[in-house]
Amino acid sequence: MKHNFRLLLASFCIILFSYILAIGYYFWPEEHATVLVAAAEQPVLPQVESKEIEVAEVEEGPLDETVQITAGDTLMSLLARLGISKIEAHDAVQALSSVFNPKDLKAGQEVYVIYEKGDDSNYRLKYLQLQPDIEHNIELNRTETGLFAVEKTQRQLEHVYARVEGQINISLYADALKAGASPKMLQDMIRVLSYDVDFQRDIQRGDKFELVYDSYVDREAGIERSGELVYANVNIGGKPYKVYRFQPQGANPEFFRDNGESMRKAFLKTPIDGARLTSGFGNRKHPIHGFTKMHKGVDFGAPKGTPIMAAADGVVERASRYGGYGNYICLRHDGATKTAYAHLNKYAKGVKPGKRVKQGEIIGYVGTTGNSTGPHLHYELIKHGKHVNPTKHTQMGSLKLTGQKLKSFEVHKRKIDSMISDLPAKGVQLIDG
Ligand SMILES: [Zn+2]
Repeated sequence: MKHNFRLLLASFCIILFSYILAIGYYFWPEEHATVLVAAAEQPVLPQVESKEIEVAEVEEGPLDETVQITAGDTLMSLLARLGISKIEAHDAVQALSSVFNPKDLKAGQEVYVIYEKGDDSNYRLKYLQLQPDIEHNIELNRTETGLFAVEKTQRQLEHVYARVEGQINISLYADALKAGASPKMLQDMIRVLSYDVDFQRDIQRGDKFELVYDSYVDREAGIERSGELVYANVNIGGKPYKVYRFQPQGANPEFFRDNGESMRKAFLKTPIDGARLTSGFGNRKHPIHGFTKMHKGVDFGAPKGTPIMAAADGVVERASRYGGYGNYICLRHDGATKTAYAHLNKYAKGVKPGKRVKQGEIIGYVGTTGNSTGPHLHYELIKHGKHVNPTKHTQMGSLKLTGQKLKSFEVHKRKIDSMISDLPAKGVQLIDG
């Protein structure tokens, strides 16, 4: 009976071990490929690798595992879970922190580890690898002296231009995404065009778009990190919008029209994505009290939690409860102009009096606080202390490039235009050769 039990236990251990090996093997090829990329740049590493494999011959060989980070995980907690002692985990994290802030660990990120049984009941960490971003690889190795050596290597990415184009069938966002644009690129484009375009009303089926962005690629590894949108040519409801990203000397980069006019001259037409205007500016019957009252702003119906954007660059003057307005934000844009946002569910992180915000930056979220019948944004535009209709007064004074700045813009524009004419859709064009 006792003998049988031992036999059973032994078989169980063998099965368990084979299972662990199988899992390890399953994850191995992919991770191994990553290690090899870095190894090509660091000729020392393959030796360490082969040593690891030799060690695998001994009694209880090293275990290897790809661990996915979940919310709340830290490198310490991850290592502790694998049975690595606190002291050793601390040393490993300490070594890693010279090239990587452990706080930057994100949920979903993968960490590959090799560890083995130590003399005591703890496991010893032999190797750890993670990619903080697509461009970098970090490897932690236990050296012969027992200390940890850490190495951060960088992938060589080519800087290219890429182009996507297509036709709108569902929405600009959905169709451009399908054509290969990145969400960030689309946000940039929507932000740039929302000065002039009402995405809810103006867009028609069949409207065309063409976007060019710069991108960083590793063709062999099939990796791409899209950079900035550099050009957009969008035809909306029969109107062409052609914009170029350009950095005038001594200023921040922004988008300009063909003629050198800045796109940032106006307030956002709708400081909220995909919302519909539910109540206009002027006299109306009050929805709660029933009497006719001047509506000092406009209302946009949108689900609770919809992000609200700053209508223009400015400074937060107030971000707090304000009577019937509920949770309320007031932004000051220049000496004479302010915008106000009411009935918010909550404020965006860091939105406090004195904070500078950029046009299009998320400042809060739609709610129904204060005197409100349902989730919506009540939006006001105040000029010289007087409420004006935000759908009519969208101009904040035009900014147009002149003189030398306009000349450099013309040069930049010609460069982009000639580059685009050689660029296939979804194709890439090398930058600087
Ligand atoms: Zn209102």
